[in-house]
Amino acid sequence: MRKVAIIGSGPAGYYSAEALQKQSGDAVAIDVIDRMPVPYGLIRFGVAPDHQSIKAVYKRYEKVALSENVRFVGNVLVGRDVAMAELLDLYDAVILATGAPEDRPLDLPGSGLAGVVGSAAFVGWYNGHPDFAALDPPLDVAAAAVIGNGNVALDVARILSKTPAEFAGSDIVGHAFEALGRSAIRTVHVLGRRGPHQIAMTPKELGELGHLEDAVPKVDLADFPAEADDSALEPGLRKSVTHLRDFAGLEPGGRRKTIVFDFFARPVRIEGDGKVERLTVERTRLDERKAAIGTGETYEIDCGLVVTCIGYRTPPIDGVPYEADLGRFTNDEGVIGGGLYCVGWARRGPTGTIGTNRPDGYEVAEKVLAEAADGGKAGGTGLDRLLGARGVDVVTFGDWQRIEAAETARAREGSPREKFIDIAEMLGICR
Ligand SMILES: Cc1cc2nc3c(=O)[nH]c(=O)nc-3n(C[C@H](O)[C@H](O)[C@H](O)COP(=O)(O)OP(=O)(O)OC[C@H]3O[C@@H](n4cnc5c(N)ncnc54)[C@H](O)[C@@H]3O)c2cc1C
Repeated sequence: MRKVAIIGSGPAGYYSAEALQKQSGDAVAIDVIDRMPVPYGLIRFGVAPDHQSIKAVYKRYEKVALSENVRFVGNVLVGRDVAMAELLDLYDAVILATGAPEDRPLDLPGSGLAGVVGSAAFVGWYNGHPDFAALDPPLDVAAAAVIGNGNVALDVARILSKTPAEFAGSDIVGHAFEALGRSAIRTVHVLGRRGPHQIAMTPKELGELGHLEDAVPKVDLADFPAEADDSALEPGLRKSVTHLRDFAGLEPGGRRKTIVFDFFARPVRIEGDGKVERLTVERTRLDERKAAIGTGETYEIDCGLVVTCIGYRTPPIDGVPYEADLGRFTNDEGVIGGGLYCVGWARRGPTGTIGTNRPDGYEVAEKVLAEAADGGKAGGTGLDRLLGARGVDVVTFGDWQRIEAAETARAREGSPREKFIDIAEMLGICR
C-alpha cells in the first residue's frame, strides 16, 4: 500500500485526503499531520465565529478523518519535531497543505507601535488560536482602522461592531467575547487604496453590515463612479457595489457605532507616543491601469487600534524551495518535485474560498497517484517510532474528539463550544 503524508489539516489537507481515498479506492494509507492538537486549520481559527454555517464544512472533513486508512497526527510541527527529509524517507509522497498563516508585514513608519496588529493575530485572538490568546488588543479606544478591502477586513470590522447579543450562537472565545463587550470603540474605518469597483468583498458578507444592531455603515457617494458603470461589473461584484451604494441611504437611528468606508485611502504613516494614536492617509486616484497613485493630499484618522488585513504568506520550511515575493512554495501546478507536492494556500498563495481548495486537492491527488509508486516505505509506523523516540506528545483523532467533547460541555449558553486556548490544557484532556 502506498503511504502519503499530508502536512496540514485545513481544507486543502482534508480535500486532498478525500481525493486520494476516492481515486485510489482506499488503497493508500494517509497521515494528516498538524502542528496543532486540533484539526481543520482556518475553519477553526480563521472563519468568523459568527459564521457557523460556513464552519460546518468541517463535518465533511470529519468523515474523511474517521475512515480507516486516514490518521490525524496532531501536535507535530514539521520542521521542528520531524524534518522534511525524514518524511520523504518514510512516505511515498508528501503533500504540503500548511496554508499561509503569517501576516504580510505592513511596511510603514510606525507599524511597530503597540496597537498595530495583523489580521492573523487579531482573528486568531477572537477565534482562540493558542499563539494569539495573549494578544489583548486595545479596545478602550474610540476608533479603530482596518486596512484592507477584502472579506477579512469585513470580518474584523463586523466583529468589532457587534453587540454581545449578536454573538449568540457563535463560538467566539470567552476572553474575546468579554473584551469586545467592554469595548469603547465607536468608529471603525475600513481603508482601501482603490475605489468601490476594486473591492474584494463578497455580497453576503458586505450586506450583513447593513443589519447590525448598534452599528451603521457609512460611505461617501462622491467616491463612486457613475451608477451606469456598475453594469460592466461581474454579477457578484455588482451586488457588492449595490450594497455599498445602499449604505449611503442608511440613518444611524440610535445606533452608536459607525463603520466608515475610506476609499482611495493609502496609509502612509502611523504615529503615537509609544502606542498608535493616529494614522496619516494619502488620498489616491486610479491611473488608466486602475492602479492607485498618490495625490499628495493627506488627512489624519485618530485611532488607537490598527488591524492590517493585507494578506498572508506561507512560512518557509527547511529543504523546500520557496518563492519569497509570492509567500508560497515554488511549484508547478502543485508539484514541487522529488515526491513533494503542495496544495491550498501553500500552493496558490492566500486567495480563494474554502471551496477553491477542493479542485486543487483533487488535481494534486491525481498527480500523486500517477507518480508515486509503492516503495515499501515505513509510513506511519516509522513516524510513530521516530516521534516516540523524540518524546513528542502526539494527538490522535480520538484524542481530538475528547477535547471537542470537553469544549462542548463547557460552552456558555447558546454557544456550540468554548475552545481551549492552552495546548497543555488540551493535552491534559487527552491523557
Ligand atoms: C480570517 C479568514 C477568514 C476566512 N473566512 C472564510 C469564509 O468565511 N469562507 C470561505 O470560503 N473562506 C474563508 N477563508 C479562506 C479559507 O479559510 C482558506 O481558503 C482555507 O482555510 C485555506 O486552506 P489551507 O488548507 O490551505 O490552509 P489552512 O486552513 O490555514 O490549514 C493549514 C494547516 O496547516 C497546519 N500547519 C502549518 N504549518 C505546519 C507545519 N510546519 N507542521 C504541521 N502543520 C502545519 C496549520 O496548523 C493548519 O492547520 C478565510 C480565511 C481567513 C484568513
